[in-house]
Amino acid sequence: MTDVAKMLERIEADNVKFIRLQFSDIEGQIKNVAIPVSQAEKALTAGIGFDGSSIEGFARIEESDMVLKPDMDTYSLLPWRPENAKVARFICDVYKPDDTPFEGDPRYILKKTLARAAEMGYTFNIGPEMEFFLFKMVDGEPSVKFQDFGGYFDLAPIDLAEDVRRDIIFNLMEMGFDIEASHHEVAESQHEIDFKYADALKTADNVVTFRFVTKTIALQNGLHATFMAKPVFGINGSGMHCNCSLAKDGKNAFYDPKAPLELSKTCMQFIAGVLSHAKSITRVANPTINSYKRLVPGYEAPVYIAWSASNRTALVRVPAPRGNSTRIELRSPDPSCNPYLTFAAILAAGLEGVEKDMEPPANATRNIFDMSEEQRVKEHIDTLPGDLYTANKYMTEDDVICKALGSHVVDGLNVITKMEWDSFRTAVHPWETERYLSKY
Ligand code: ADP
Ligand code: MG
Ligand code: MG
Ligand code: MG
Ligand code: MG
Repeated sequence: MTDVAKMLERIEADNVKFIRLQFSDIEGQIKNVAIPVSQAEKALTAGIGFDGSSIEGFARIEESDMVLKPDMDTYSLLPWRPENAKVARFICDVYKPDDTPFEGDPRYILKKTLARAAEMGYTFNIGPEMEFFLFKMVDGEPSVKFQDFGGYFDLAPIDLAEDVRRDIIFNLMEMGFDIEASHHEVAESQHEIDFKYADALKTADNVVTFRFVTKTIALQNGLHATFMAKPVFGINGSGMHCNCSLAKDGKNAFYDPKAPLELSKTCMQFIAGVLSHAKSITRVANPTINSYKRLVPGYEAPVYIAWSASNRTALVRVPAPRGNSTRIELRSPDPSCNPYLTFAAILAAGLEGVEKDMEPPANATRNIFDMSEEQRVKEHIDTLPGDLYTANKYMTEDDVICKALGSHVVDGLNVITKMEWDSFRTAVHPWETERYLSKY
């Protein structure tokens, strides 16, 4: 039996009535087309056409005919849909009518970078730590009203969200997620759910699915889940720490029991590559105007470009576990990012370090936030870009990252940056009226 025939049999056995074909736009927003099950065979063989010109950062009107081809490995039922009319989803690859991959499809960009790693013998593994807020709905609209006032690792009854979090986790598990931990985070109404690492493509698919499931289940509980980086001033924002490792011949390539800190040369080179492209990675890992309000001192978010094997103030931390769990943790990405583009940029930067045999600066052993500006200059510790416009400029000037993302995506990100920046720059914010209205 062919793979398609097996898949069709499974769809029938699962009593599926509708299939959602999902993909992501350039911002990492999930899009979908629903088809009745009668169209499944066509979808799995020829693909389903759609108009790409109405998707953010996709195609111009003149070349807008696109085709969605389901990736059969991503088949999953949506557990919250009714038993008698089951809905399944596939994550799709986007093709042009001439049957070649579309260069603006973020999933394709990641696959291309992973193929480069594979040529060098590497698999790229990522485990993200998803942080988010659960806010109350007010008059049917999302608000920034806290649902609970718990703090780090708090339990019910302070953690009113325990039941909602459990409901989210059950649904994720039914969709095949391997959940490792969940807890209340530091800020009011803030939570973290961690799922097991996998190769970067599967993890990126998992991140978009995670956001979609979390928002859906929160709403069913009358709450709004947000992955916005810094929804409330004065308290922690939400991050998406990315735990990264390379594997070669089934072994963790970052582990070397004989090396200093038991970190292999490959690991050092990878860290060096990531640090040297950190500013341009920021454009994709921190993609909104608001993302930069999280990257400030005082809230556990990184600001300085350094690495450390011992403290959490650096951009890149090496967590304590070794052996198969040896990994580096990039702490800058936030959960509003497009995971496909973010992982592609991190990998391209790390591989560049490996290929060019780069060496990282000295391991920062002290709390960098306690250092004076002078000390940081002396130790050559640079800072991440302070806003989207600056980060975009770094990306545009970075050949390695531009090559990995491809000109279609880079052009698209430039357009979005310009629009966002102009809109933000010309708006009059409440801060300004508070500051100036009476004074002048
Ligand atoms: P933290 O200590 O920063 O809070 P967590 O325990 O919340 O970290 O999350 C650790 C993440 O690292 C999990 O997603 C886990 O699956 C992932 N991880 C473990 N080993 C590896 C590895 N070898 N490569 C990539 N990720 C890994
Ligand atoms: Mg964590
Ligand atoms: Mg932990
Ligand atoms: Mg956390
Ligand atoms: Mg972490």
